[in-house]
Amino acid sequence: MSNRFDVITIFPEYFAPLELSLIGKAKKAGLIEVGIHDLRAQTSDIHGSVDDTPYGGGAGMVMSPEPWGKAIDEVALQNPNLTHELIVLTPAGEKLTQALAQELVESEHLIFACGRYEGIDIRVTDFYQSAPNFKVREISIGDYVLGGGEVATLVIMEAIIRLIPGVIGNPESLTEESHTLTNSDGTLVEYPNYTKPQEWRGLKVPEVLLSGNHAEIAKWRRTQALLRTQNLKN
Ligand code: SAM
Repeated sequence: MSNRFDVITIFPEYFAPLELSLIGKAKKAGLIEVGIHDLRAQTSDIHGSVDDTPYGGGAGMVMSPEPWGKAIDEVALQNPNLTHELIVLTPAGEKLTQALAQELVESEHLIFACGRYEGIDIRVTDFYQSAPNFKVREISIGDYVLGGGEVATLVIMEAIIRLIPGVIGNPESLTEESHTLTNSDGTLVEYPNYTKPQEWRGLKVPEVLLSGNHAEIAKWRRTQALLRTQNLKN
């Protein structure tokens, strides 16, 4: 089960939101440990350069392998007894899904490599793919291009950390939700939710939810989940 997360970035300040809400509480409760590492700390020139021009020409700059190698090795050395799963954020990676988050929560140690510019020299991925005690995954959070991997890392961390036992107060919340509910065709999205008041701006809560009849409520919710899922596909 993951409880150690390390992030390598040129913008450590991006990760201030990790102090808030569920993740902040999980940190304080000792359910997870998080390290944020500045890639520029691994550079030796006065400018803290982490990029260079691409071989073969073309627009933009590519992140150099050397500072990445040093930063990843340092994080691995600080956690010598763990198997490291290096997550390289890239729009060219496998797409994040709830199933992938459920798989990643089983990893002992996740290291996130946040790219910038045109991305990280591919030899970083290639090298750690065959390094002892390492697994590498290239992950995308969707078919669009962000300016950097920081936001993508926050998304993936939140999707994983809420699955760690004890992070969410009521574990039942995790079974009755979108992309976790299933039918024979795959996953469903959740049924619509209502709370008080019973009527708001002329809109009433469906009678069945007020009936106290648990079987009927479950049936209604299932039908609604199927309908919403069907509508998404159309
Ligand atoms: N040149 C790259 C390409 O066309 O695939 C895009 C580089 S992007 C401007 C800079 C960095 O943002 C990437 O290295 C990656 O870390 C991050 N990034 C951008 N879009 C992403 C996405 N959809 N999912 C995950 N990371 C993304």
